[in-house]
Amino acid sequence: MRLYNIRSGELELTVNYGAVRPEPTQKKNRKILNTWSSRLMLLTSGALVVGNIPVYSSVQHVNESTNFTSAHITQELSLPAAPIATYTGYAQELDDTSLATEKGKWISYTIKSKDTLASALANIRLSNVYKELEKNSDITKTLAKLQSGAILLHHKVGKKITQLIYVTGNNKAYIMSRSNGSFSGEWTKDRVKVSKIDRLFTIKNSLAIDASRADIPSRIIARIPKALKKDVNFKKIHHGDKFAVVYEGIQLDGENISSRNILAASYQSKGKLFQRIRYVLNNGTELFLSADGNDAQIRKTAFDRKPIQRARLSSHFNPRRRHPIFHTIRPHTGTDYAAPRGTPIHATADGVVRFRGRKGGYGNVIDLRHSGGILTRYGHMSGYKKGLRVGSKVKRGDVIGYVGSTGNSTGNHVHYEFHIAGRAVNPETVKLPTVGLISKQEQRKFKSMARILSNELKNAKQVANIGADFSQQIGG
Ligand SMILES: [Zn+2]
Repeated sequence: MRLYNIRSGELELTVNYGAVRPEPTQKKNRKILNTWSSRLMLLTSGALVVGNIPVYSSVQHVNESTNFTSAHITQELSLPAAPIATYTGYAQELDDTSLATEKGKWISYTIKSKDTLASALANIRLSNVYKELEKNSDITKTLAKLQSGAILLHHKVGKKITQLIYVTGNNKAYIMSRSNGSFSGEWTKDRVKVSKIDRLFTIKNSLAIDASRADIPSRIIARIPKALKKDVNFKKIHHGDKFAVVYEGIQLDGENISSRNILAASYQSKGKLFQRIRYVLNNGTELFLSADGNDAQIRKTAFDRKPIQRARLSSHFNPRRRHPIFHTIRPHTGTDYAAPRGTPIHATADGVVRFRGRKGGYGNVIDLRHSGGILTRYGHMSGYKKGLRVGSKVKRGDVIGYVGSTGNSTGNHVHYEFHIAGRAVNPETVKLPTVGLISKQEQRKFKSMARILSNELKNAKQVANIGADFSQQIGG
């Protein structure tokens, strides 16, 4: 926007930036209409536009003002340009949903075991799209069986789904495109690729800003805290700390269109380096394990050793024990923990109540059924936890009842049994099952995978960006 020479008396020019936009023709037609006020102004006798409303010979009230005298106003003056509305800098790309909508965006979904095309699309709220795909029997036949772990991409323009791609690996992909209101599909080779991408960045502002400047997609940035939560206090990251990630990028015809999992992430601060490697359990749980594989998560037990933490072991499991009441050899099929009457008894693992009631010498007893064919039994209770019934679900550590001396018992204690596949084993020494157990064989697999990813983290590239250290790029 420009102001024009004004050759009359002293005026104060007022311009509402951006709102007044003189037409080019006005340049030749400038004329001062108003000289009576030093606080008001006028521009020209030609048509002006204020917002969308044409204004003729108008008077504008002072908004932002600049004082001029006639002596000063002898030439065209430039005003600061309004911000360019179309600017998109790095900082504005944090949310990839805000990218140009006419171009659309790709969204990826990982096929789970037992997924069908219908269930996968229902999971991402695209059941209406399934109804359309269903009309083409080629598509439903081709995708009758989906591979667990495969990728289903869809392309969204505004609210419309224009394409779907089923990516199976080996660079094979089945592309379904919509034209004239219906979908058709075809297999392609080498058009869609999933590759490992590594990125390194140094904290100069914040995780979100610096990661974004390193050209890392927002969905990956959002997952960095999960990957490194064991090692990093994200409220206390420092200027100069370094992060690296290796993630899966999805390319269509050579162009990055989407991203998927973080495969590895590292954090380096004050000379300390932390690395996490992704590992997915058979049940689909995603873990980020320390790169050496000695992570506690691998060996986390699914059971507590005993149902009362602070209790005295009063009688061992003993298959040849002389019974204290009957004085005969009677196997003691559990372990006794003595505790005062009324002491809470805890479930030693997640499970379901299979029995709750009186049972001969056990007195008041609860049996819990656990996964893996395991049953635990808690005898001689004085009472049960209120509300607990056969079929109730319990969590590890939940109170299920209270210590007593019901049944064949010589004092207040809980008699605890551990059965595997119907056979009582020694609760004191039984090898407790683990959650998220990684077998020895799988651990070896993990370790070799971790070695590769760990090296990739160390050699991750720093992407040239504003404020980045360009020297690292040279000769790299
Ligand atoms: Zn006992």
